[in-house]
Amino acid sequence: MKVFVMGSDQRIVRCARVSFDKDHKVDKERDIRLIKYLLQHRHASPFEHVIIAFEAGKDFWLSVVERLLSPAVQVYYSGSYIWLNLRNYINAKDFFPESFESSMVERLPATTSILKGEEPTDYSTDQAYLKEKLETSSGWVGLVDSLELGTDMDFYTFVVECPLFVARQWHRHRFGSYNEVSRRYVDYEPDFYIPEYLRKQAQNNRQASVEEPVEEPWNSLFLKKVRWYVQDLKELYMAMGEKGVARELARGILPQFMKTRFYWTVPRVSLDNFITLRTHEGAQKEIREFALAIESLVGYKGSDKKIRL
Ligand SMILES: Cc1cc2nc3c(=O)[nH]c(=O)nc-3n(C[C@H](O)[C@H](O)[C@H](O)COP(=O)(O)OP(=O)(O)OC[C@H]3O[C@@H](n4cnc5c(N)ncnc54)[C@H](O)[C@@H]3O)c2cc1C
Repeated sequence: MKVFVMGSDQRIVRCARVSFDKDHKVDKERDIRLIKYLLQHRHASPFEHVIIAFEAGKDFWLSVVERLLSPAVQVYYSGSYIWLNLRNYINAKDFFPESFESSMVERLPATTSILKGEEPTDYSTDQAYLKEKLETSSGWVGLVDSLELGTDMDFYTFVVECPLFVARQWHRHRFGSYNEVSRRYVDYEPDFYIPEYLRKQAQNNRQASVEEPVEEPWNSLFLKKVRWYVQDLKELYMAMGEKGVARELARGILPQFMKTRFYWTVPRVSLDNFITLRTHEGAQKEIREFALAIESLVGYKGSDKKIRL
């Protein structure tokens, strides 16, 4: 039986540590301790970034789905494979034969040992932090990993750095998993996107803009003010931090131009939907650039066209 795994023990830790902006930092002993902590304290979302595909018949998949106790456990079938993430696997583990477990031990030695109550002796790592990275005018997107078996459920993991307002639009794409830097944890000096010029509001579309600057002197004058206010708010934020104001409150003054960073693990069907919706001329320029960058990183397969609505 073929078993494919996208991710590693280390990937779980990276997706957990992004909250602290420490996902680049890896260390076998500390990472294993963190996996234990995440499992004990049910901090489960980082486990969603590890994807498992088992070759199986549809009947077997139906027999698993039939026995699931909670509707929150999501197990999919596409192209002769059962697809699920590690969080779902942990929840549905009892319904899979023991032969599956040996494949899991091989690919995720630390996590599977901890789940069995044993002390891990091995730990799997990522090949690289990012495979490829593309810049956009407001940030960047990097491809972390992919599992491509030619199905609508092929999976991809990206890291994205973008302004807050782009992240808000992005996170509306619910069919996928996210872990993001938290300003409750970090207090490093924030970085901001300042557009090259201030685009005009479109007249024929209430939510769109046109690719030309507002008239001078307003473009230069407002841009200067935007830079000034952003700098002033950043200084106030840093000063509040130095005087002991809680990070979770001080962050309230940071404007939407502030950049955030998150991991995004997404199935092809949702990725294609994202590309269709966000490369459309009705989408905001900044997110459109990200959708085009993603399309050039991993292509568009049209799987979303099978969805009527
Ligand atoms: C140009 C533009 C303007 C927008 N303006 C607004 C706005 O003003 N306000 C606003 O709130 N949002 C707005 N959105 C966001 C939009 O409503 C969607 O939330 C977003 O585009 C994500 O799309 P999705 O739901 O198809 O994707 P996903 O959430 O990734 O879902 C993928 C697919 O899964 C299925 N699906 C997922 N969840 C459900 C569910 N609960 N029930 C049934 N089917 C489901 C659907 O088929 C969906 O297409 C805008 C989006 C665009 C592109």
